[in-house]
Amino acid sequence: MKREFAVIGLGRFGGSICRELSKEGMEVLAIDSDEDKINEFKNIASHAVIADSTDEASLKELGIKNIDHVIVAIGDNIQASILTTVILHDLGIKRITVKAQNDYHEKILNKIGANHVVHPERDMGKRIAHSIISNNILDYLELSDDHSIVEVKAGKKLIGKTLVELDIRARYGCNVVAIKQGKNINVSPAADETLKEDDILIVIGADKDISRFEKQLV
Ligand code: ATP
Ligand code: ATP
Ligand code: CA
Repeated sequence: MKREFAVIGLGRFGGSICRELSKEGMEVLAIDSDEDKINEFKNIASHAVIADSTDEASLKELGIKNIDHVIVAIGDNIQASILTTVILHDLGIKRITVKAQNDYHEKILNKIGANHVVHPERDMGKRIAHSIISNNILDYLELSDDHSIVEVKAGKKLIGKTLVELDIRARYGCNVVAIKQGKNINVSPAADETLKEDDILIVIGADKDISRFEKQLV
């Protein structure tokens, strides 16, 4: 199934989104004000055009109105990022994802019609910090200020035990939502599922509960 995307700003972040969407067979309109960037992406994206996204007329001319999802990946120029987002919102684009440079930028974007604000440097920093605090936390996804989903490698205290024996929900208040075993993923594992070496647990819960679980059991 092909869906139409536009990526505005082909820096490291926008460029990576554009490459990945294209690799997955999606239709991508790549937009940048820099000619060199457009030359770099013309053989990668379905269409690559030079345009200043703060110019409403240029965006209209590109037929941006017909695009389902627009990603604004302009980094340093916060003013251009905000202006672009306002224009896209006014044009009635249904899904607008914008990269924020800092927390103030993020607040403004949320107020002016961005559906989804991402903060890749901050979020990747958090994820890496969590994975280096503990050798067993492989990945971390923040759900709210105090809830997350983590991927933890089953440690010695878990191997050979079932979820019932470990009684994780009652003792630690967190839920094992899936178990990854190599390439297989067992979603909603049964209570009598025995954990094996190299199993990876995907656990959801409050940060303090996950932390307790991780310290005492993993
Ligand atoms: P990254 O960290 O992802 O590499 P960055 O934070 O360094 O990005 P910039 O380099 O400032 O971000 O911007 C990304 C791209 O957006 C650049 O290629 C730049 O040419 C493009 N860009 C900036 N302003 C506009 C604009 N008004 N219209 C179109 N493209 C723009
Ligand atoms: P990000 O995209 O993560 O915001 P960046 O890619 O823009 O970062 P820089 O701003 O160039 O990276 O560098 C990040 C930080 O590293 C800056 O705070 C800078 O002061 C610091 N830094 C750069 N070079 C050195 C150095 N040789 N020694 C110590 N600190 C340095
Ligand atoms: Ca940057």
